[in-house]
Amino acid sequence: MRKTVYEKVATRRLNDKDTLDELFNKLIALRTQIARNAGFDNYRDFKFAELCRFDYTIDDCFQFHNAIQKSIMPLIEHFDIERKKILQYDKLKPYDMDVDIDGDTPLQPFADGKEMMEKAVKCFDAIDPFLGICMTQLQTLNRVDLDSRKGKAPGGYNYPLYETGVPFIFMNASGLLRDLVTIVHEGGHAVHSIVTHTLPQVDFKSFPSEVAELASMSMELISMEHWDNFC
Ligand SMILES: [Zn+2]
Repeated sequence: MRKTVYEKVATRRLNDKDTLDELFNKLIALRTQIARNAGFDNYRDFKFAELCRFDYTIDDCFQFHNAIQKSIMPLIEHFDIERKKILQYDKLKPYDMDVDIDGDTPLQPFADGKEMMEKAVKCFDAIDPFLGICMTQLQTLNRVDLDSRKGKAPGGYNYPLYETGVPFIFMNASGLLRDLVTIVHEGGHAVHSIVTHTLPQVDFKSFPSEVAELASMSMELISMEHWDNFC
């Protein structure tokens, strides 16, 4: 079934291969021209300046890539070999990568958005009561739109509201483990919004993603030992 679904999606995309290739080629040409007009050799160098990246260099990025290749890839490879062995396959295909190798049924961390939020409050409170209070504020001020529904835009995000300082969280929860990760992630952004509310300038609260995602992705890791509040 996984193979059938994967191939259905891939085949449909393949139908538009030429159109997408053409679009992408146009995009590259346009971007290169934008960069040259601004006096840069290529779009990457232009974009680095446009994003105001002054605290790390292109060379740092290459070093980071090399570090991942050297230190992380062997680990990933190790996991893949293990997966292949347990699934008893000669080769791993893209549709083999997400299946539970132990054959366990999917976790059901909550039934609906309301229950998810209640559990998120408990989870955050277990880390630090202040974090629990932040999440409770969102809950009581109704700054959440959590459940997936027909016609709702896809995705998930935290959006700061500068006047009250209490942001809102939008997402499409449907009872999956993935949604648990999303709510603790967006909850991390929410705490960040709340604690930076007192900064005197709104511009100070507009962080580059390297800073913003530190708050949210760290929350995923920090909260992990309290996920027993969900399941
Ligand atoms: Zn994020």
